[in-house]
Amino acid sequence: MDTDILIVGAGPTGLMLANQLTRRGIRNVIIDRHAGPSRETRALGVQARTLEIYEKLGIVYRALELGKRGTGANLWAEGKRKGRVPLGDAGRMISPYPFILVLGQDDNERLMGEKLTELGGAVQWNTELTAIEQRDDGVVATLKNPDGSTRAFEAAWVAGCDGARSAVRELNRIEFPGAPYEHIFFVADVVMTGTMVPDEVNVYLWRSGFHLFFPMRGDDHWRIVGILPPALRGKDGVGFDDIVPSLRGEAGTTLEFRSCSWISTYRIHHRAAAHFRAGRCFVLGDAAHVHSPVGAQGMNTGLQDAYNLAWKLALVAAGKADAALLDSYEAERLPVAQRLLNSTDRGFKMIVSDNPVAGLMRTQVIARIASFAMSLKRVQLAAFLTVSQTGINYRTSALAFSLDRMPAAAPQAGDRFPWLKLKRRPGGAAEDLFQALDDTRFHLLAFGQSAPREGLPMLGDLLGIHAIPDDPINDAELARAKIPSPSFYLLRPDGHVGLCGSSLDEGAIARYLADRLHLR
Ligand SMILES: Cc1cc2nc3c(=O)[nH]c(=O)nc-3n(C[C@H](O)[C@H](O)[C@H](O)COP(=O)(O)OP(=O)(O)OC[C@H]3O[C@@H](n4cnc5c(N)ncnc54)[C@H](O)[C@@H]3O)c2cc1C
Repeated sequence: MDTDILIVGAGPTGLMLANQLTRRGIRNVIIDRHAGPSRETRALGVQARTLEIYEKLGIVYRALELGKRGTGANLWAEGKRKGRVPLGDAGRMISPYPFILVLGQDDNERLMGEKLTELGGAVQWNTELTAIEQRDDGVVATLKNPDGSTRAFEAAWVAGCDGARSAVRELNRIEFPGAPYEHIFFVADVVMTGTMVPDEVNVYLWRSGFHLFFPMRGDDHWRIVGILPPALRGKDGVGFDDIVPSLRGEAGTTLEFRSCSWISTYRIHHRAAAHFRAGRCFVLGDAAHVHSPVGAQGMNTGLQDAYNLAWKLALVAAGKADAALLDSYEAERLPVAQRLLNSTDRGFKMIVSDNPVAGLMRTQVIARIASFAMSLKRVQLAAFLTVSQTGINYRTSALAFSLDRMPAAAPQAGDRFPWLKLKRRPGGAAEDLFQALDDTRFHLLAFGQSAPREGLPMLGDLLGIHAIPDDPINDAELARAKIPSPSFYLLRPDGHVGLCGSSLDEGAIARYLADRLHLR
């Protein structure tokens, strides 16, 4: 076997997977058919859940330094500012990162690439997967080398992080049902001034469409995303100058454009793979799902796919779990992709419809309703949990199990365990639990009861045990998160609750690890 895991594609999804496997000491090889990293900014909204994972990877501070925090979105209709949606306040108690970080995909890829180098990994550029043969004990991949020659390469598992036209998906004949949207998008990086509220997202709704202005790093630097005006739809080689009249017509004549460093047009599709696994091959990121950029979810969803698969592949590749554990990747991530497709599709249709009534709705009604709804704390919280991806749960997964019925408001099996500041030792200081818990291991948290001193034989040093002491600060945090006492939570490496219950029962935990996680 040449490696344990062959990762095809060094976009954000592949780089995340390579980092997660490498830091767990799992042999992997990452290839990409391009000559080097992409220079295009493409996606630029980094969500809170991604930043939490970046923190574990040690790249969050650099990301925060390079990016701009989007703290609010301003809604404009027919040249008038109709309202402002705060992006930060609602998430203040949910995540250490209660905002969208505006940071281009190229910067995200660079940070993950640098981290991979630091960990001892490297992308093999100019190397393309052209064929796959699945065997019982592994996969034989045909790789095209930089000089055009080919070689057979054996891996135990193949992760297809190879984008919307995924060779891994196609070679495994996994269907990719869905359809293209009729509209053509454009995206442009521009230096300009105008009515936009600085450092915030500005959404201009108009009768025939919309334009989004994202603040970028650098003075007066904006990323503009919109749909091409109908008159330009059939035109080849659309340049920024072609778009300027419609921008001025809608966002105001005060717009002053100084330069445009990048413009691209693209047609978007909404599709999800029928399966995320075929034997020893997996698809992740755009290879598994593509959808409209509404809500800035695309890149983030691929990164979460990789984070979900990595710890499972690591356990299986290290011989600590049976391959059956890997079935949970599709079971957990395919429903997330399908829900995302449905919600972005609804949102997208509403904001791009050419129908005159829809145009009127967009400019007269949507902006007002959205501003009003988003002034309600309850709506703000629901929106934050959805957009930030911190609200994603795997409650229906076979890996989620509750020994007892937990109170409805308490964290449930399958949920991302909440962000808390707790004292882990009597008399110690309150610590940020996300920072304190190493995500290459499982963690058992015991509240209002003692925890096993000797650890659990099946997990050995893969388990951290934390008996949380009674303390006024802890009590207040647990009350806020509605965590009952006594209770216990067994967290998976990705921070989701695997098993929970009232009274800690070592026998039941051992059965959970053997039967549901397939640990050996
Ligand atoms: C113009 C544009 C604007 C966008 N804007 C946004 C946005 O604002 N917000 C958002 O969330 N998303 C946006 N997206 C989507 C976002 O870019 C993707 O969701 C993201 O790139 C997915 O990452 P990925 O790693 O899964 O796939 P990709 O980034 O597509 O990476 C796949 C990699 O696989 C390599 N590869 C492909 N086939 C092979 C092969 N056979 N062998 C070896 N290597 C191979 C490719 O060279 C590529 O490097 C945009 C996309 C485009 C095109």
